[in-house]
Amino acid sequence: MHNAFTQQLSEQIKTAVSEKRMLQVAASHSKVPLAQDIEEVSLSDYSGIIEYEPSELVVTVKAGTKLSDLSAALAERKQMLGFEPPEYGDSTIGGTYACALTGPSRPFRGVLRDFVLGTKLIDGRGQLLTFGGQMMKNVAGYDVSRMLAGSKGSMAVVTQLSLKVLPLVEEITYRKEMPEQDAIILMNQMAGTTLPLSGCAYYQGHFYYRVFGKHPKQNNEAVDNHIWKILNPFMPKLEPQQKLWRVDTEGPADSIPGTLAVGMCGQRRWVLSDTAPAPYATLWQRYFAPRDNVPPPVAKIKAGLKNVFDPHHIFKTL
Ligand SMILES: Cc1cc2nc3c(=O)[nH]c(=O)nc-3n(C[C@H](O)[C@H](O)[C@H](O)COP(=O)(O)OP(=O)(O)OC[C@H]3O[C@@H](n4cnc5c(N)ncnc54)[C@H](O)[C@@H]3O)c2cc1C
Repeated sequence: MHNAFTQQLSEQIKTAVSEKRMLQVAASHSKVPLAQDIEEVSLSDYSGIIEYEPSELVVTVKAGTKLSDLSAALAERKQMLGFEPPEYGDSTIGGTYACALTGPSRPFRGVLRDFVLGTKLIDGRGQLLTFGGQMMKNVAGYDVSRMLAGSKGSMAVVTQLSLKVLPLVEEITYRKEMPEQDAIILMNQMAGTTLPLSGCAYYQGHFYYRVFGKHPKQNNEAVDNHIWKILNPFMPKLEPQQKLWRVDTEGPADSIPGTLAVGMCGQRRWVLSDTAPAPYATLWQRYFAPRDNVPPPVAKIKAGLKNVFDPHHIFKTL
């Protein structure tokens, strides 16, 4: 069921189409510094939990709901979001979905889109659409709810999300001082063991790993879990001329000069460099920045989707 608020957004979109004006989807502005001259489709007042069934591990929320409010409501029932999204100020669940933001638990629990069960959205014609539902087993037709994760407001306005949630687990972080290359080898070795890992990173001379549930005694120093708040996402303070790159490698690789941090069991590096330090490097000045190395087949698919969801190209494309 769509409501008066979403009807109003639909009218706003239809008017913009008829007047040939562009729109920018926004909520708390925690990520995108908006261009001043572009009208917003604002979800900032559209927040709250619509339905929450702890016994079913499913929550349905309005897109403008703050991550902090959602996490607090889940924690009250000893549950959590499975994808550990980073929080920037008043980050909302809609913006997090739009940027497909997942955290350090990603190799172990999965990405945001794995937890999306259904969405309601408004396309670039102003049509109110519903995809998926509140169950994993609802697959009929294209899995649009998951496909649009990461579309960054360029395809449609997402107004509502149903998400699978997980039981809250107790986690302990351990750290050990060691050289980067030793840590990368160790990360890869640990990923092949039965240790219940939920995070693995190398940062400032230390190898950090996070373990949940019952696990064998560790001989390393236990530290505050807060380190993952710093590492998720990796956003060091940079001088204006400095460039931070995200590099995805294929397994343990040689050391990349300028590496500031390592994640993803050794397969992801954050590197300071004037030029691209590897073929699969993404300039990571801003985590919402569009990829500048999209391969042509992907670009073609993206363009096709844009034409389907936003045929008048009314939503600003990053
Ligand atoms: C210490 C640490 C460890 C971390 N470990 C991990 C980790 O192990 N794994 C992990 O995924 N994240 C990790 N993160 C978070 C990470 O920085 C991102 O938040 C995460 O990678 C986004 O998830 P994704 O794989 O769905 O997106 P990605 O596929 O990495 O894409 C990022 C964004 O680009 C978009 N995108 C992807 N492909 C294209 C394309 N071809 N064209 C246009 N846009 C595209 C996506 O939709 C998304 O919005 C870690 C962070 C830290 C600090």
